[in-house]
Formats: sequence, structure tokens, C-alpha cells
Amino acid sequence: MIDLVAAIELVERTAAPLPPRRQRLADARGRWLAAPVVADCDSPPFDRAMMDGFAVTAADFAGATGAEIVELEVMADLAAGDVTTTAVRPGGCMRIMTGAPLPPGADAVVPVECAVDGTADVHAGGRVRLRDDRFRPGQHVGRQGTAFRRGLEVLHAGDVLSPAAVGLAAEAGATHVVVRPRVRVAILSTGSELVPCDAVPAAGQTRNSNAPMLAAACAALDAEPIDLGIAPDRAEPLRAAVAQGLAADVLVLSGGVSAGDLDLVPATFAACGVEQVFHKVRLKPGKPVWFGILRRAAATPTLVFGLPGNPASSLVCFELFVRPAIRILSGASRDRWHLPRATARLVAAVKSPPDRPVYLPCRITRAGAVLEAEPLPWTGSSDLVGLATADGLLALPAGGRHEPGDDVEVLLDDTLQSQPLA
Ligand code: AMP
Ligand code: MG
Repeated sequence: MIDLVAAIELVERTAAPLPPRRQRLADARGRWLAAPVVADCDSPPFDRAMMDGFAVTAADFAGATGAEIVELEVMADLAAGDVTTTAVRPGGCMRIMTGAPLPPGADAVVPVECAVDGTADVHAGGRVRLRDDRFRPGQHVGRQGTAFRRGLEVLHAGDVLSPAAVGLAAEAGATHVVVRPRVRVAILSTGSELVPCDAVPAAGQTRNSNAPMLAAACAALDAEPIDLGIAPDRAEPLRAAVAQGLAADVLVLSGGVSAGDLDLVPATFAACGVEQVFHKVRLKPGKPVWFGILRRAAATPTLVFGLPGNPASSLVCFELFVRPAIRILSGASRDRWHLPRATARLVAAVKSPPDRPVYLPCRITRAGAVLEAEPLPWTGSSDLVGLATADGLLALPAGGRHEPGDDVEVLLDDTLQSQPLA
């Protein structure tokens, strides 16, 4: 049995990012960059109108006070995509649409709403009368290169390709990106009592709820779950199922890792060549958790987790151990390996066991500048009711009674959060 901190460190040290590959940007949402994206252009790419209106020279407005009307000749009409080499001369302007390049000589856009005396619809050849009591030079112009400059690293290795990052990469000219592949996670449920969740359990049978739960947890991390179904507590079928799971990047098995007569999993892992890194961690729930690695001479290794069968234990162990493994394989930057942590003020008394830290489902609310954590009712390691509505986990050190008003550590549930912290 080892300490939780040591166990998490062992996972961090054993996992390594998957080899990067070049991929079409369009297929890369959710992937983590292994190489930066460098802009091949400025953004905005040219001085650009940010409003529909009239491109003017600031000099024509220099002396204009609040209520004063400036009358200008409309020299041309510029739609988005139009480019002109004609300069706006004093006393003149060009009708311009949002997104069009500012013509030479112009240095501000007066919005169409500022046209008075029925001149808002005036086009090239007419005269527009403008009154803009908030006029300032440069207004409503997106200056070239103010967001980023050509040659700038706009995204870095370790950044995730969120929808916004995909947009930024596209704008910067990246048709392809170098990313870590999606992590393939085999999910194997073990136990002769288990039946698929779409079955009605007969006497003594239990629905396999871990498989959909762990698949959902993988999907929430943009990993690819591969459900291998149920293996009974018998050596040969269990060995065959484990061997199949070892083809994935990560094998997440549940059940059969504690000390019962039919807990065959550790021996099966050993028989399949999986090297044990740890078995049993001072932790509640989740003490029986097993972790190891199958190393290969010419291919990437498979990380192997044996999670306790009880669903709440399985999920807590997933969050504490499997999540960082998936994130590391995915190439995430270190600050994204674990659930975010925060300090919260306890609103009800809770106890932790004398020998192990405990993770309890809690509701988290914002009270002014502080977070408040309310422990949710929890009957033990098989109980998912509290976890299903939790905003996070209370992380309490071993051996203590924690009183209302105490500051405690919470792990915020960033993927399953049931209510926003606004
Ligand atoms: P085990 O870790 O195999 O000793 O199982 C502990 C408890 O978790 C037992 O009550 C099992 O029936 C239950 N359990 C094991 N695997 C699953 C599963 N995949 N889904 C739901 N419950 C499970
Ligand atoms: Mg079992």
C-alpha cells in the first residue's frame, strides 16, 4: 500500500505523450498540439472597416464640434472584398462596408447611423451629411496586425485545439497541425455477477454500470473509449479479454482487484506481461486500485489500470489516476493533467478515516469571494447518487474532523459539473 501522492507521481512518471502526427486542422478539434502554430499573416490582414459607414479623413472632422454637420462627397462604394488604390481626398469620403480595406488616405469610419438629413442611402457621386459627436481618429478601423503579427507563435505545444483555437489556427494559415493522436482506452468490466445495462438483472446479478460511466469519463476527456464488454471471474476468458485490451493505449479494467478469492486480475495482468507499478493506495474510496505498464520493444506501451468494481470507487480512481494518464498521453500541458483544485469553506461537519484521505461528493457554491462546499449524502463506495449531482470532490486529509467554517481542498469537476459556479 502506498500514499496517494506517491501513487499519482508514479502515474505521472510512467505515462508519456503518444508520438505526434500531422493531421488536417478540420479533424483536430480536442487534440493537443505537439508543435506550435506560427501565423503566416497579420491579423487583421489589412486596415479594415469594423462598421458599415463612410471612410473619412480625420482632418475633415478635426474642427467639428458635437452638433456640427460635416458634408462630404461620396467618391466610391467599397464592399467587403473590394480594393481601391484611389485615395480619399479632403472633403471626400467613400461609402464602406464592414470588412472592406480602408482606402488610402482614410483614417476613420463614420457609422452610417451618423448620416443626417436623409443622406444615409447616398452612394458614389452623391453628398453625405455626417454628424458624429463622438468622433476620434482611427475609430471603427481594425488596424493591421493588432491581434497578431506574421511569424508570431499564436498557439503553443501543449495547447488544446478548442473551437476558438481551431479558428485561430485556420486564420493563421494552418491547414494541418502536429498533434498527439486521440488516446484509445479499452474498457473491460469484470465480474461473473455482471449483466449488460440493457438487461434486467436476475437474482444475484448486477448491471454493468461502470462501462458506460467510464466510457463517458473518457469521452469527456476527448479520448476514444472501446468497450470490451464483460469478462467473468474465470482465468481463461479474463486473460483473453485482457490480451485484447492491451492493444489499446490504455486499458481500464474494473472489478476483481481486491483481495477476494475470485479477484484474479493482478495475476492475469502478470501472466500477460504487464509490469505492476503499484497495487493498493491509501485512499477512500478506491483502496484496491492497481496500476501497471506493458512495455514493448518497438511500439508504444499500454498503461493498465485495475479499478475497484464499486462504481463510486471506480470513478474517483478514474479522476485521480486515469485522467492524468490520458491527459499526459494526449500531450496536454502539465497544468491540465488533473482536475482543477480550489479552497472552499465547509458548510457542514465531515470526518475522514484515521488512515486514509477521503474524497466525498460535494456541492460547491460561490458566496461572494469564497467558495462554499456542502458535502452530499453518501453511503459508500457503491453509491453514485451524490456523485451524479456533485460539482466536485471534497479532498480531506486522513484522521480529522472538519468543522463548518474550515477551509478545505476541493477538486472541481470540470467535465461533469451539474451547475455553473456563476
Ligand atoms: P469487486 O471490485 O469485483 O470486488 O466488486 C465490488 C463491487 O462492485 C461488487 O458489488 C460488484 O458487483 C460491483 N461491481 C463490479 N463491477 C461492476 C460494474 N462493472 N458495474 C457495477 N458494479 C460493479
Ligand atoms: Mg468482482
